[in-house]
Amino acid sequence: MNFGWNLTEAASEIDTAIHEIGHTLGFPHEHQNPNSGIAWDEEAVYHSLAQPPNSWSREVTF
Ligand SMILES: [Zn+2]
Repeated sequence: MNFGWNLTEAASEIDTAIHEIGHTLGFPHEHQNPNSGIAWDEEAVYHSLAQPPNSWSREVTF
C-alpha cells in the first residue's frame, strides 16, 4: 500500500493506516451503507463540496 507520504512522521497517522487497511479488507465508509439511516441534506452536501478545496460539481459529489 502506497500512501504517498511518510506515515511515521506523526503518531496520528496510525489512524490513516488502519482506515486504509480496512478498505483493503472490503470495508466501505459508514456513510456509503444504504442501511445507515442517515437523513442527508443533499443540497447542503452539494453546496459544501462545491466550495474549495474540493470545488466538485454535483455529478462528482453524487
Ligand atoms: Zn476511506
